[in-house]
Amino acid sequence: KEIRTATFKSLLLLSSILLVVYIITYSLARTGMRQVAEAEESLRTQAMTDALTGIFNRGELMSRAEEEISRVTRHGPDGGNGELSLIMLDIDHFKQVNDTYGHQAGDAVLRQMPDRIKRGLRLYDILGRYGGEEFLLILPNASLTNACMMAERIRCSVAKEPFMYKEQSLTVTISLGISTITPEINLTAAINLADQALYKAKQNGRNRVEHQSPQQQPVTGSTP
Ligand code: GH3
Ligand code: MG
Ligand code: MG
Repeated sequence: KEIRTATFKSLLLLSSILLVVYIITYSLARTGMRQVAEAEESLRTQAMTDALTGIFNRGELMSRAEEEISRVTRHGPDGGNGELSLIMLDIDHFKQVNDTYGHQAGDAVLRQMPDRIKRGLRLYDILGRYGGEEFLLILPNASLTNACMMAERIRCSVAKEPFMYKEQSLTVTISLGISTITPEINLTAAINLADQALYKAKQNGRNRVEHQSPQQQPVTGSTP
């Protein structure tokens, strides 16, 4: 009887130890897997994000734009769901901001810019930093008229309220160029048209919106 009791106790002890070991191993493995998944997610986010502004970088923008264009091409360009417009947006005289207030102040303006731009956007519009002080907007289901209205809203939201850097308030304006995707033009051509429209906006005095359609005579020169 004593042997049976001792054996039973030993087995009970052994199973308890095994259970504890199992629980510890399982929770360690789960934590490890969660950390790996978080690290992967963070790397994915970093790869698609612009470090200064926190919005999409140029690579991610281009791949999203290609996706949107293929969606438009599938559904037909002139149906309500098949429209797509681009807005190229450039800060006016940004070099002067850097020269007058310093590079840190310029960086602060760039960091605050996405919030301003987003005020004029819908949830599914895609915003990214195209380079330097240029931003590109991809507007699914937006006709030229819709895009012009949105661009004007964005222009106003930037111009009417100064940007803050430390105690200093900086008045900044932007110029915007719009193009609309049609079946004949690919992404590169659409970006070129938006760029030409932006160049027109700069030529016509800055702090304004212009658009360029493929039929219009192309403007010579490039965006400053
Ligand atoms: P325009 O109205 O014709 O666009 O004039 P601009 O001065 O904005 O254009 P320009 O191309 O002459 O100068 C762009 C400036 O943007 C120069 C460059 O130092 C600055 N810039 C580009 N990237 C950054 C950045 O990440 N941070 C800061 N602070 N400045 C930047
Ligand atoms: Mg520029
Ligand atoms: Mg500029």
